[in-house]
Amino acid sequence: MIKTFAELDLDPNLLQAIESMGFSRPTEIQAQAIPAALDGRDVLASAPTGTGKTAAFVLPALQFLQDFPRRKPGPARVLILTPTRELAMQVADQARALAQHTSLNIFTITGGVQYQEHADILAKTQDIVVATPGRLMEYIEAERFDCRAIEWLILDEADRMLDMGFGPVVDKLSTECRWRKQTLLFSATLEGKGVEGFSAGLLNEPAELDAEPSRRERKKIAQWYHRADTAEHKLELLKAILTSQAERSIVFLKTRERLAELRTELERAEIPCAWIQGEMPQDRRNNAIARFRDGAVNVLLATDVAARGIDLPDISHVINYDMPRSADVYLHRIGRTARAGKKGNAISLVEAHDQPMMDRVARYVKEDIKERFVDGLRPKHKKPVFKKKKKKDDKKKAAAKSKKKVAKKK
Ligand code: ADP
Ligand code: MG
Repeated sequence: MIKTFAELDLDPNLLQAIESMGFSRPTEIQAQAIPAALDGRDVLASAPTGTGKTAAFVLPALQFLQDFPRRKPGPARVLILTPTRELAMQVADQARALAQHTSLNIFTITGGVQYQEHADILAKTQDIVVATPGRLMEYIEAERFDCRAIEWLILDEADRMLDMGFGPVVDKLSTECRWRKQTLLFSATLEGKGVEGFSAGLLNEPAELDAEPSRRERKKIAQWYHRADTAEHKLELLKAILTSQAERSIVFLKTRERLAELRTELERAEIPCAWIQGEMPQDRRNNAIARFRDGAVNVLLATDVAARGIDLPDISHVINYDMPRSADVYLHRIGRTARAGKKGNAISLVEAHDQPMMDRVARYVKEDIKERFVDGLRPKHKKPVFKKKKKKDDKKKAAAKSKKKVAKKK
């Protein structure tokens, strides 16, 4: 088992960058994916949020570009697709940091950016392009982006791309990149939502990697919940938590409308916050994220779409002001805290109608998530009890799972 970056056959200039970024050893997924990709194999990888998937695909791509340097200027050779523009920018930032001692060019092509800016990029030699599927497809259809030179196609957060309805566009892009040599697909989970079926059409006998993070990497997240009698009670709980215990928090809401309401309430309570939501101009989003990242504000309000994949360092609390619509989304949300081995807290504020989701989450994460109380804000109502339904679904899932296991053993 690989324990150090030095064992990974990476160029000294990459090792130097890795060291200056403070990575002392590869994470589990990096130790698995880097050798497989450098072996020339397609890769189908899943690992939980915050376990270093970005470097797991960027490093082998950078190594490949150096092993086979381009002979003349030209279009991109590695294409990385991400579901959101923030994520594209983060992946590009990390790629630039890792490529700091090379002469490789890394660009992003996403929505929310002036067309002129892209015209400048497209006229240049690009080694790596990080893109969101929609805008890239526009350029391809206008014959302004040339996929024929793409040798590696990488899909980051494939599960979320499917969730967001990018499946058909990604399929098209894959066809456009049909001369590629390798395809790498990364996802937080491969379960549900058809990632596996989707990947079957894109990948060729991939190395299937499923990295359970080591204990050192596994996050230490304390999870608990507070019950609220009413919406007003919930707001009081949030204000109490934000002003007394939480240091740096991200608060999740289910819609922009809900976010706007809460923003007004927090303003009224003089709790400074920044906020991000889908369909927000790029510069304003960046601004909000920067204010939070720099510590100008310690509370960030977000919807799920907006927060997906963003790496915000040092979040002490993830607060579910609105419960997520699924246990899977819960896991993604709480993945915002306790990154790279730090401790974190995840708090859910639960009204009576949220209790079934809270129970489902507890079963899903296989943890006993305890109820806690805030002095003076104890709920007056009793905890509602919902009978656990025996669902056909569960049985089906169990059957599918055991089938999968058998298939894997072959
Ligand atoms: P994921 O995509 O799996 O959610 P990221 O690639 O965003 O995770 O990485 C999460 C954080 O961990 C980032 O801040 C990244 O810089 C850091 N990181 C990545 N690899 C390592 C490593 N080998 N050692 C320490 N930190 C790392
Ligand atoms: Mg990621």
